[in-house]
Amino acid sequence: MIQAKGYAVQSAESKFEPFNFERRELGANDVLIEIQFCGICHSDIHQARNEWHNSIYPMVPGHEIVGRITQVGAEVSKFKESDIAGVGCFVDSCRVCENCKNDFEQFCQKHCAQTYNSTEMDEKTPTFGGYSNQIVVDEKYALKVSDTENLAGVAPLLCAGITTYSPLKKFNVGKGQKVGVVGLGGLGHMGVKLAASMGAEVTVFSTSPSKEQDARNLGAHNFVVTKEPENMKPLAGQYDFILDTVSANHDLNMYLNLLKLNGAMVIVGVPEKPAGIHAFALIGNNRTLAGSGIGGIAETQEMLDYCAANNITSDVEVIPIQQLEEAYERTVKADVRYRFVIDMQSLA
Ligand code: NAP
Ligand code: ZN
Repeated sequence: MIQAKGYAVQSAESKFEPFNFERRELGANDVLIEIQFCGICHSDIHQARNEWHNSIYPMVPGHEIVGRITQVGAEVSKFKESDIAGVGCFVDSCRVCENCKNDFEQFCQKHCAQTYNSTEMDEKTPTFGGYSNQIVVDEKYALKVSDTENLAGVAPLLCAGITTYSPLKKFNVGKGQKVGVVGLGGLGHMGVKLAASMGAEVTVFSTSPSKEQDARNLGAHNFVVTKEPENMKPLAGQYDFILDTVSANHDLNMYLNLLKLNGAMVIVGVPEKPAGIHAFALIGNNRTLAGSGIGGIAETQEMLDYCAANNITSDVEVIPIQQLEEAYERTVKADVRYRFVIDMQSLA
């Protein structure tokens, strides 16, 4: 076995502490990645704190991983030693079901082995995520990342990037469209950058008035403070597409009402409690309400290549791993600008 070290929580109430554990020996198709940066996704916080009521402890979170390959298995062909690679939200799937075959491995009909708070394909061996020094992963589930000086800014693309890119592509967001992004956090700020890069006119809907200038710098054309209902009224029926990235419970009807004829709203945020939706909020203007979950490997690679070609990275605050607790607190307070990323050198 390969000795690994990271930071883990032992229960929903406990704080992060150093944690030693084992990664599997390198198989013929595996690569060993020395993790350089790992983003902090709000999903890490939901799961570390058992807000989705499915947590497995001890838990080493982290699914926005980039690092350098230090070893390759005998049959690896996609990577060589010293390449840069990324790992996102899952590390394996059955590969043969309809969803896997159609490049939606995240919805594998047998078992999607998520990067942490999950199990390997044996459905027994726990998986541990990227708040750690190294990871072993099958090359099929690792992404190619071009070597850049800003790898910290690339890490969040592995979750925040793909989760926003995928629905924007699916709903053909582009020129001539009015797009709303609800919540300017890790996902939201990527949603703004990506939608703007695709040519849409972007409005940020935020509870934080202090984020207006940042929103405009990220590429937004308009900024609406949602705490004032008066601000929303004149916008009714104007939007083609809205991406809701909010992590806490909030009223969806208010945003559905902003959609024009045949407009669509996609939910990617996962608040703890279910939302109440009035049928008329959907019936009016024949609106669509949909969800979207991360993205498959092929689409994640497409997104990484798109971001590299268009010079898109995440705006990050890089922290040593010892500051996880503060980073969690600030993220929960919507005070992240706009993604915390752990510099894994601090683990040494
Ligand atoms: P984040 O960085 O904390 O951003 C969430 C943003 O939501 C905040 O910055 C804030 O923006 C807004 N917000 C927070 N509390 C709010 C409240 N009480 N009322 C209204 N707005 C509030 O989180 P994230 O990492 O982007 O993740 C967002 C959500 O997406 C999480 O629930 C996460 O689990 C989920 N997620 C889903 C997928 C998927 O595949 N679907 C993938 C990754 C993450 P303002 O300050 O602008 O209001
Ligand atoms: Zn995530």
